[in-house]
Amino acid sequence: MKILLVVKSKIMENLGVQYLSAVIKRCGGQCKIVDLTNAVDTVIKWNPDMVGMSIMTGSQNEFKTEAHVIRQLGVSKIIVGGAHPTFFPEDCKWADEVVRGEAEEYFSSVYLNSIDEIPWPDRTDFTGMKIRDFISSRGCPHNCGYCYNRKWSELHPHFPKVRIRDAKDVCAEIKHVNPQFAYFQDSCFGLSMKWMEEFALSYNKMKTCPPYHCHLRPKQVTEEMCYYLQSSNCHSIRMALESASDRLRKLMNRPNLDTKNVLMASGELRTAGIKFMIQNILAIPTSTIEDDLSTLEFNIRCKPDYAWSSIFAPYPGTVLGDMCKAEGWYKGDYSDITDSFFDQSVLEFDAEYKEQTYVLQKVFALCVETGYMPKVDELRISNLPKLVHAASRKLGDSRLYRGIL
Ligand code: SF4
Repeated sequence: MKILLVVKSKIMENLGVQYLSAVIKRCGGQCKIVDLTNAVDTVIKWNPDMVGMSIMTGSQNEFKTEAHVIRQLGVSKIIVGGAHPTFFPEDCKWADEVVRGEAEEYFSSVYLNSIDEIPWPDRTDFTGMKIRDFISSRGCPHNCGYCYNRKWSELHPHFPKVRIRDAKDVCAEIKHVNPQFAYFQDSCFGLSMKWMEEFALSYNKMKTCPPYHCHLRPKQVTEEMCYYLQSSNCHSIRMALESASDRLRKLMNRPNLDTKNVLMASGELRTAGIKFMIQNILAIPTSTIEDDLSTLEFNIRCKPDYAWSSIFAPYPGTVLGDMCKAEGWYKGDYSDITDSFFDQSVLEFDAEYKEQTYVLQKVFALCVETGYMPKVDELRISNLPKLVHAASRKLGDSRLYRGIL
């Protein structure tokens, strides 16, 4: 059986479809992974029996259009999976089948021969990548309101909340791939300290230990964790604050996180020489520009190597996304959500706040880097060049005059 898997873009690896491709090949099938722009051409040249599409909310309409063309070419089965079909299946009625949740199990049991274990992801169709993606665990023990994790676990009640791979197997895969840099896609890396110890030991046994990046919750960043990260050549991590407002973190179901955890984690990481990124979300439902500016101010105190920020989107099927609908904070039909995390808010905020948060998102990292705190009335699209100049000037002043200005 020839199965063509289509992803939006191949700029980065896509472990979900790569694992699926590995399973298809292990079961004796043929598989190719292409991006959306090459899907039609590949269907014409390769003539697959079936097309699988991995769709995130924001790109659903592009996939739907391409699917229509592909169907005209005689492909009799189009199957869709990924976050959008999983949590909003009613929007994918144009497909022949919707796979909700993990696709490897479904494909191997319905279309292929069942397999006992999931092989390593198939990297054949992702050549020349400078950074290679890996995953050491699936799932997450937390239930943040804006994330699909909770609903994902509900779809897979037979799986434990977190499935952790054997540390030696993870290292064997990295050794086999031999990347320049490894990027761990885990929702929460190193959830068990015993696993971290085993991982650090195995990692060090490899001839080349590539630098790597992973995601941790701020509370995981202890002195002991930093020791294992450092000793396994971890170059950088990312951790999520989301908002400095206790009220907004509670709304997002992150009540156990205190800003002091993030401040302490930042200090530990700096001492250990591990670079870090803090993730933030602006324009959270019920948020004000003052809330967003306090998040910026708090990031300036933490001094991350990069301060990521995005604009909240009410993804269908997430607890907070559904709450936005129920509360009237979002009145759209999800077609206005793009696949960018940086566009203007689609919530029912007033136009002025949407513009302010759009501008703040654009200069957020620069302001954290330079220590520049913009005033509310500076946050206008027409003022963006002046803001960039003011922030750069602040950086120059602090470097030249010993931080006095
Ligand atoms: S910690 Fe990350 S993966 Fe886990 S529920 Fe929260 S946002 Fe989702």
